Amino acid sequence: MKLEGKVAIVTGGTRGIGKSIVERFLEEGAIVILGGSRVETAKKAEKECLEKYPNAQVVGVEMELTSTEKVEMLISKIEKEYGKIDILVNNAGITTTQSILELTDSEFDQVMQLDVYGIMRMTRAVSRVMVKQKSGGSIINTASMVGIYGSPRQPAYSCAKAAVLGFTKACAKELGHQNIRVNAVAPGVVGTDMVKENVSDEMLESLKKMIPLEKMADPKELAGIYVYLASSDASYTTGAVISVDGGLVM
Ligand code: NAD
Repeated sequence: MKLEGKVAIVTGGTRGIGKSIVERFLEEGAIVILGGSRVETAKKAEKECLEKYPNAQVVGVEMELTSTEKVEMLISKIEKEYGKIDILVNNAGITTTQSILELTDSEFDQVMQLDVYGIMRMTRAVSRVMVKQKSGGSIINTASMVGIYGSPRQPAYSCAKAAVLGFTKACAKELGHQNIRVNAVAPGVVGTDMVKENVSDEMLESLKKMIPLEKMADPKELAGIYVYLASSDASYTTGAVISVDGGLVM
């Protein structure tokens, strides 16, 4: 098992890509703290994991990533309870499909608060623990291909995901000497509720025609790359942005 005994935090772990990451991490022996925006969904995800993996060590908690105070409290509680944090997956994210012509400050802010500030708050709090514990760690940020190439009707989301890439590289450069690796995964189109809620069937069909592998990804097809980046297999990988998009962008 590649992550035996490692303590991992996965934000947005209740569904979609995050849930697949949580499951693969458990299969690899990690102790997982999964986060959701509501305690009910986090506990439901915890229960589902325990039904599937009865011997797993997993706990679902509400993670209010838009509050610095709550993030600091959460990380200090996790540090006290588990004694260390080896892996942080900053996966929670939201989008808006509002055109730049209509976008309001508050819609823009909402995306930034979770997709950018949320990652910054979690990384800041967790990397302080990782520096203190001296054994290093792995931080993995879920970006998106739209952060590299942009997407019409997604100016807020494209901007947020581009920020994640710069943030990833800056942190990789700053924290490398502490043996803290920071990388990003840039998914293409993944079959999750986020896509169902924001992409029309017509748009999906035309996207599929542009993907060399001719389909959108199953969330399970993303999880392996997170296991790799979290594990010692990636001990010399930092500041990387790994596209997992069926060849859509190359
Ligand atoms: P999803 O909507 O299925 O899941 C989002 C997760 O984020 C949920 O677990 C939810 O609880 C959590 N979340 C939402 N708002 C939150 C808040 N305010 N506080 C804490 N947690 C919150 O999304 P997904 O498709 O699985 O996306 C996961 C990540 O992958 C996101 O960062 C997304 O931007 C990125 N991504 C997705 C796709 C795709 O095609 N689905 C493509 C590229 C990147």
